[in-house]
Amino acid sequence: MTNKYIYFVANWKMFGNLRSLYSLNKVISFTKKYKRYKFKLIYCPPNTLISPLKDKLKSSSIDIGAQNCHESENFGANTGQVNSNMLKDVGAKYVIIGHSENRQLGESDNLINLKIKSSIKSGLKVIFCIGETLAQKRKKKTKKVLSHQITHGLKKVKNKKNVLIAYEPVWAIGSGLIPNEKEIFEITNFIKDKVKGSKVLYGGSVNPKNIKLLKKINNVDGFLIGGASQNSNNFIDIIKKTFI
Ligand code: PEP
Repeated sequence: MTNKYIYFVANWKMFGNLRSLYSLNKVISFTKKYKRYKFKLIYCPPNTLISPLKDKLKSSSIDIGAQNCHESENFGANTGQVNSNMLKDVGAKYVIIGHSENRQLGESDNLINLKIKSSIKSGLKVIFCIGETLAQKRKKKTKKVLSHQITHGLKKVKNKKNVLIAYEPVWAIGSGLIPNEKEIFEITNFIKDKVKGSKVLYGGSVNPKNIKLLKKINNVDGFLIGGASQNSNNFIDIIKKTFI
């Protein structure tokens, strides 16, 4: 896994305020000190923190992502919504689309597809989340579900090189449970076969303990990390253990 650049994407979800940004000083110093390791760090804070975070990361190699956006890249009468151009304008380079927490709120494959297309049009790179529920896994429908999510989510998406795919089993998110290495390896290959040339991240309960196992899965291009990314020490620990 260490011969290529490994992505570490921090998904802060609805956590964090201006004060939380102080904790990133450690991460910034870490990235400067450990430049020799091939990693790409992307922080996806709540939208309220994108602009101050951009300021803070001015002299660092860490990129910023948003956690979702509206399906139209244009201004519009959509109270409470933010579009991909607006996110780019304040400093985002990436945006997470299709997270299961949003799918569970009713975000459809069609809506996800529109969001992916408008984000790419705005010049953002997309972290496209897919994953099966526990019930679907138990019925052995994982590949069918992923295949459906990929086909519909990436329908008519031309610049697939601007899309990173994050395999996040719904049952693994925030639960402390993860699939075994063989399962992750097999699913990652399945996704790479379906979307040629794609980079695939694993997400779901990645932590400083299980990273020692996860880093051995050599077709995985990185990790999308929720809970453990909110603590800078844990996040740094995960990155270090991937390389050491
Ligand atoms: C996520 O929500 O994208 C995620 C991976 O969460 P956690 O690491 O907390 O399971």
